Amino acid sequence: MARYTGPVCRLCRREHAKLFLKGERCYSLKCPVSEAVTDRHSRAYPPGQHGRDRMRQGSEYQVQLREKQKVRRTYGVLEKQFRNMYADANRRQGITGEILLAMLELRLDNVVFRARYGSSRSQARQLVRHGHVLVNSKRVTIPSYRLSPGDKISLTEPAREMAVVRRNLEMIDRAMPAWMASEDGLWEVSILSEPKRSEIDETVKEQLIVELYSK
Ligand code: SF4
Repeated sequence: MARYTGPVCRLCRREHAKLFLKGERCYSLKCPVSEAVTDRHSRAYPPGQHGRDRMRQGSEYQVQLREKQKVRRTYGVLEKQFRNMYADANRRQGITGEILLAMLELRLDNVVFRARYGSSRSQARQLVRHGHVLVNSKRVTIPSYRLSPGDKISLTEPAREMAVVRRNLEMIDRAMPAWMASEDGLWEVSILSEPKRSEIDETVKEQLIVELYSK
């Protein structure tokens, strides 16, 4: 599956939000949209020559589009795949926006990120692609693989020895969501239930995405 390979901080600047795409750097003063950076050094405006001119609140369509792009970029999903996920969520019974967010959270790369094996979703995706991740003791190399309650995710023995993984587990101070639980001294995580809306980032306005795709 293709993926975006350009500069990722541009994506955060475009969305006026920290999307946490770069691991450690996102928590440091090197982040160009960090609120802690002084005004002089802050680049919390859209990229490009006319970036500052694009700070204004746009039309209703633009607001919906930006929300969709923000979520899509946060989870590292390309447009076509995201639209297919929306169509899938729309077919199910329930609130489409909430189902869509739950489906994104249950992607294997996201769960590896939430388990703190990867410092960013892209690093987690690399661990999956390189065959370091097991689902119910079987190797799975598809980052978009959708997990279900009861699944157990662990790392291969060589991956447990990797310095980057050990460092992530030691250094990253991020609580595991309530729908996941760690076992085997952090080396295995299990999915307890489908993520509820209250357990997912509350800054996302999923209704805007639904409105955009319902046009
Ligand atoms: Fe770059 Fe991370 Fe800051 Fe986003 S949050 S601008 S990816 S450093």
